[in-house]
Amino acid sequence: MRKFKTESKKLLDLMINSIYTNREIFLRELISNASDAVDKLYFRSLVDDSVKINRADLAITVAYDEEARTVTVSDNGIGMDKDELDKNLGTIAHSDSFEFKAQRSGADETGLADETAEDIASADVDIIGQFGVGFYSAFMVGGTVRVVSRAYGSDEAWAWESDGIDGYTITQSERSEHGTDVIVTLKADTEDESFGTYATQQGLTSLIKKYSNYVRYPIQMEVTKSRMKEPPADAGDDYKPEFENYTEVETINSMIPIWKRKKSEVTDEEYNEFYKTDFHDFEDPLRTISLHAEGTLTYDALMFVPSHAPFDMWSKDYKRGLALYSSGVLIMDKCEELVPDHFNFMRGVVDSADLTLNISRETLQHNSQLRAIARRLEKKIKSELANLCADDREAYVGFFKEFGRTLKYGLYSSYGMAKDTLADLLLFYSAKQKKMVTLDEYIADAPADAEAIYFAAGDSIDRLANMPIVTTVLAKGYDVLLCDENVDEFCMMAMQDYTPKDAAEPDGSTKAWPIKNVGSEDLGLTTEEEKKKAEEATEENADLFGAMQEALGGKVQKVVISTRVTDAPVVLTTEGAVSLQMANLLKEQPGADEGVPEAQIVMEVNAEHPVFQVLKAAHAAGDAQKVKDYAGILFDQALLVEGLPIENPLEFSQRISALMI
Ligand code: ADP
Repeated sequence: MRKFKTESKKLLDLMINSIYTNREIFLRELISNASDAVDKLYFRSLVDDSVKINRADLAITVAYDEEARTVTVSDNGIGMDKDELDKNLGTIAHSDSFEFKAQRSGADETGLADETAEDIASADVDIIGQFGVGFYSAFMVGGTVRVVSRAYGSDEAWAWESDGIDGYTITQSERSEHGTDVIVTLKADTEDESFGTYATQQGLTSLIKKYSNYVRYPIQMEVTKSRMKEPPADAGDDYKPEFENYTEVETINSMIPIWKRKKSEVTDEEYNEFYKTDFHDFEDPLRTISLHAEGTLTYDALMFVPSHAPFDMWSKDYKRGLALYSSGVLIMDKCEELVPDHFNFMRGVVDSADLTLNISRETLQHNSQLRAIARRLEKKIKSELANLCADDREAYVGFFKEFGRTLKYGLYSSYGMAKDTLADLLLFYSAKQKKMVTLDEYIADAPADAEAIYFAAGDSIDRLANMPIVTTVLAKGYDVLLCDENVDEFCMMAMQDYTPKDAAEPDGSTKAWPIKNVGSEDLGLTTEEEKKKAEEATEENADLFGAMQEALGGKVQKVVISTRVTDAPVVLTTEGAVSLQMANLLKEQPGADEGVPEAQIVMEVNAEHPVFQVLKAAHAAGDAQKVKDYAGILFDQALLVEGLPIENPLEFSQRISALMI
């Protein structure tokens, strides 16, 4: 018996004993090896005239024996001679798992440091599954593994066999033609794991379709089917049909991936079917995007914009990502490095022959090829969405209803870094046009003297549309974007301004339009004269306003005469970065009991409103109680108008009742 090299033994221990549950990938690994072996022979035939093979004969066969509990993966590829069996299957030259370990722990190149297999197993359980663990994965399900191989051009066959514990044997064997059989004898079933299901037609078929559907060679399996027997010639009316089983060799995989085919040769129906089966959706996708890149980096991508958000989209367990294939073999089904968070709704596949199968999660993050692919895909998704927005607004509004929040959240959570990609994809409700518009459309429709984009945030479009701070701006001819989603205001803050897409100034420069909250900023809509007048009036009433502020017990920063209100008696605005809506949202965050920034509230009084005269009279008459009560009512009322909660509803209603009697 030959002993395994230390590092091989450690990996074997790790694989066999780990609690890692995704054992089914062993089949994928064995089939990939078989496909590589067939590839190698095929390529050799291209450059070596003495190698005579017919490509059509190249195939992979999967067989099983339920009783003997074996699964066999065979190929008629290049095969291995005795030395190769020893060298290739006796050692693990460079397992990615161990390299990863080395990088992480700063250990030497073998990465083994002083850790035991259990240490590694407990810490890195999920790593195993992310790697192409190769041939050794057979030991996750197999008690023994036997490899019978005959190298192309040799007339000898050799058998390698091991229980995956200490070592292996190599003995002379027989095989009728070149190629390799890997025979896995499955472990006994345990309470948690029924290994026996791998040796069934159903189990194997579904694994082949799941992981190896697009391997370029046929994966054949003898399948048992049932058919109706021919009725006998003398069958009468009461004849009951009988069934019989028969077997047939079937190609289980579909071989040519749909994403490798030219877009013009695939029908919409085929794309839709593929999308629905592969991504488990019941509805057709909204948009299908296919991309074939050639050059330094060759890959095919097929992506879909779903027509509705998956039910778990907003749960924290939701995982973004596209399926990643290398030459038709699935490496991982959700590679998140391929799509940015703000396009996390995209589904699809990327297939690149330039990536190796043994790519690890750790290497993925640093893989410049993958980053290049991701950048290109992001641009492509962006331009497709922009086209949809321009060409089919109804569909885009539907899309935005489902995923707009993701785009806005992306803008906010990237601190505005994704603005170039996302800002022109956003839609907001225009109070003036009464429909969803882009920021470009807002600007295109703005009066000639407009210089800013105005928005108001609250909990309902209807309520916002009637808020005094909004109607005032509308009355001056400017539009206001009404934002009723929590993320809106944060998104607007992250953007700060917006530069229209193709609006060059006469001198060729482009002008950025500041984005302003109508409730919290100097909108620049009042003339100097109006401002001065309001300041003087505020000064004249300083005594009353001081009393009102005091009555409100520090809830407002100051009370002033307003320059903006038209019909409400007072309006609450804010100074600084935190608006009323935002302060309210922040308060609702978990763990926000302490230390959330408060809004700096200003109570603006409408000097034209009769209520102001009543206040003035009460103050002049020295009726401090009335001033206090009225100030309280006005404050609460203004909050209610904005859809915000009031601190003491009981007190509010008592004050209103008192007014009635
Ligand atoms: P990897 O495939 O990542 O190199 P594996 O552990 O899966 O690692 O396999 C080790 C080596 O064994 C392969 O590189 C290949 O040379 C050889 N090998 C495995 N399976 C076969 C096969 N079916 N036919 C020929 N060679 C094989």
